[in-house]
Amino acid sequence: MIPFAIGVDLGGTNLRIAAVDTNGKILEKITLGTEVTRGRDKVIFEMCSAIQGLATKYRSSTGHLSGIGIGVPGIIEMQTGMVRESPNLPGWQDYPVRQEIEQRLGTHVVLENDANAAALGEKWLGAASNVDDMCMITLGTGVGGGIVLQSRIWHGMTGMAGELGHITADPNGPPCGCGNHGCLEQYASATAVKRMAVEAVAMGTAPELARAMNEEPEFSSKVVYQMAVQGDEPAQQIFVQVGRALGAVIADLINVFNLPMYVVGGGVSHAWDAFAPALLEEVRKNSFVYRATAPVPSAHGVQGAAIHDDALPVRRSTIITRALLGGDAGLLGAARLPMIAQEVKLPEQELKRA
Ligand SMILES: [Zn+2]
Repeated sequence: MIPFAIGVDLGGTNLRIAAVDTNGKILEKITLGTEVTRGRDKVIFEMCSAIQGLATKYRSSTGHLSGIGIGVPGIIEMQTGMVRESPNLPGWQDYPVRQEIEQRLGTHVVLENDANAAALGEKWLGAASNVDDMCMITLGTGVGGGIVLQSRIWHGMTGMAGELGHITADPNGPPCGCGNHGCLEQYASATAVKRMAVEAVAMGTAPELARAMNEEPEFSSKVVYQMAVQGDEPAQQIFVQVGRALGAVIADLINVFNLPMYVVGGGVSHAWDAFAPALLEEVRKNSFVYRATAPVPSAHGVQGAAIHDDALPVRRSTIITRALLGGDAGLLGAARLPMIAQEVKLPEQELKRA
């Protein structure tokens, strides 16, 4: 019998729940099209019913339930288990989410920022499974971040550490929802890619993008990427901007942390080929710590691109690479949360007994 946990990824558009065993095997995954606009209580009710269903099913066939981990898009206060700020979850602010769910389910619940959960997922089973220390930047509608040190999420004082999307890439840049100007999120999110395309079209310098924008009712960052791949220069330039902003921020992170690995994930990371050259060039230019620790080019590629084969830490070098788990990173990381909480608790209990 292998213990299992339940991970929840509470997104803006849907709610995903999975039962995952302690080896990282997904036993079952459910996607609920729960719209958060339908209200907090409705979302919590549907989430708890689905969790209960999975818990009952796998308790009998698999074994002990370690607990429940929930990734939430917002700033979490760890001590109280409350959401302090979440633009994507109206009505959740200052509400005792953890306590409410624990009461309904009678099980231990760990609440975590969704990007922190994704970083933990990549550390556990993805690109960073061979290192103890890493950080991850998730490029989605916004830009999230997570820092993992000694295989544990770095929470800072209250749980709000790792907001890498709001590091300044250009102090004179566009205003950000957080109050700052020129945050990484304003250059490297799907929203930013679309905005930069609209700006290029408005300047009259991107005729092909203008045509695509007229023809495609669902014009998105994905379309801009497809055009970049097809060789459209204005579209390619947008991803150069994405890469430079990411490079500027990762260079700072390298200088501050000197970690062995920096992982880039989220939907926009599918455009890795379009932005990685500018990213790596910027990092090399801006960070002397990177230059001192850059991986040696191998036959399989240069710099971060070679991580999945022979570049794994023979000589200790700084690896910048893309995530491996795709959309499951946050879900797997969320399931990992209660497992870690138990690992931490066990030695303490043993000490008390002794
Ligand atoms: Zn910001």
